[in-house]
Amino acid sequence: MDEYEFQKLTSLKPYVIGLGIREMSTVFGIVDALGNIKCMDKVKTRDYADPTALVFDICDRLQPLVEQCGGWGNIKAMGISAASGNNITHRIENAANLPWKGKIAMASMFQGRLGISVALVNDCTAAAMGEMIYGAARGLKDYICIWIDGGLGAGLVLNGLTFMGNKGRVGEIGHVTLDPNGRHCTCGKVGCLESYVSRRGIRQTLCEIMEEKPDVPTRFRDVKPDDITVEAVAEAAEAGDALALETLAVTGNIFGHAMTAWASLVSPEAFVLTGGVANLCGKYMLPSILEGLNENMFAPMRWTTKVYVSNLHGDKACILYGSAVAWQTHEYDMVL
Ligand SMILES: [Zn+2]
Repeated sequence: MDEYEFQKLTSLKPYVIGLGIREMSTVFGIVDALGNIKCMDKVKTRDYADPTALVFDICDRLQPLVEQCGGWGNIKAMGISAASGNNITHRIENAANLPWKGKIAMASMFQGRLGISVALVNDCTAAAMGEMIYGAARGLKDYICIWIDGGLGAGLVLNGLTFMGNKGRVGEIGHVTLDPNGRHCTCGKVGCLESYVSRRGIRQTLCEIMEEKPDVPTRFRDVKPDDITVEAVAEAAEAGDALALETLAVTGNIFGHAMTAWASLVSPEAFVLTGGVANLCGKYMLPSILEGLNENMFAPMRWTTKVYVSNLHGDKACILYGSAVAWQTHEYDMVL
């Protein structure tokens, strides 16, 4: 008997549903205790002007997936990783990048429809929980998980427990001012960390470096700024493009300096970096992140905190992060 069959026989409910709600797409799947995604599906978040329509459609799409896994009797709970999720109210609240305004009781809506326990947390908190079960944080008790993509946010695990934050919001590090005379941020402030360490931050840094160094060859010289993607920057770095490598080194150094404050406050064993930018560019940024973090650190604390880049990527990572929330939800808890 293999491990899967063993668990199926010995556990009353061997699966959970993991759901990830993001700006562009919403992904969901059925996951077993070993982190195997048995089946999955995906919809475009912006196709649903009304969140109720999204809930109804996902419930319909879940039905055949659940049947493939032996029916609802095999499903323990559902966990949702959501942009602008509140860890305590289990609502999506005032999301800047989702199509719905105000407070959306998403977990409660799914729970009412499906009749199983449903918990929703912020995507960065879910990532911290997922990395603990399936990823780079296995075995760690104190760490900070940072999601870097279009924006920047953090989830915290302290003394082995996920830190939910007062009022359910935690890890909003993207719009902390880094440079009061710096770049204009999309939030209306100036010099936010997110305007340097994010997809748009990397693009802007590359454009500035190209302007400063007009004689250095780079494949981006004739590309319109808006057409520069982080995917292309990572590819160019892999191919040895000097300015792509410099852009990522500069970004990593800025990020490392910012991380010093958080490391000094919490003294974590590690930072775990995840999200699209970390997946694509993490390995090129890592040396300068470590340099920035440690050169800026109070001497006795230098080199006491590790930095890992997650090996969970894309849609699968989002589903696993949602499933981690579900595994921590008791099947008889109706959370709302
Ligand atoms: Zn900002």
